[in-house]
Amino acid sequence: MKVHTDARVDVVDVTDAVAAAVPAGVERGVCTAFVPHTTAGVIVNEAESGLLADLEAALERLVPRDDGYEHDRVDDNADAHLRATLLGSSVSVPVESGALALGTWQSVLLVECDGPRTRTLDVTTTTSA
Ligand code: ZN
Repeated sequence: MKVHTDARVDVVDVTDAVAAAVPAGVERGVCTAFVPHTTAGVIVNEAESGLLADLEAALERLVPRDDGYEHDRVDDNADAHLRATLLGSSVSVPVESGALALGTWQSVLLVECDGPRTRTLDVTTTTSA
């Protein structure tokens, strides 16, 4: 699926789209959401607006935008690569009775680190025997 992001750093709640991509009738399995990109990540956490602002601020503290990175000589986005590395490129969520078995406060979030762009999110579900 395609996910549009609206800012250089942006968090998009993709939970409903990922859930919709789980085939009906999967009694037990694992759903994997993977971003085939080096400057975006995907995480599971709470989609509360204050927390999302905190996440963006934490990424800026951990990996400042400009910090003399070697890669910035190539395309000036080393911070985005490093932030994506910290976030990870995939999450796995248990599937029970055709639905994502997320915790009450958990959402699947695509974290854009070098947008705005249109990103690909690959969602695959493996059925358990
Ligand atoms: Zn780059």
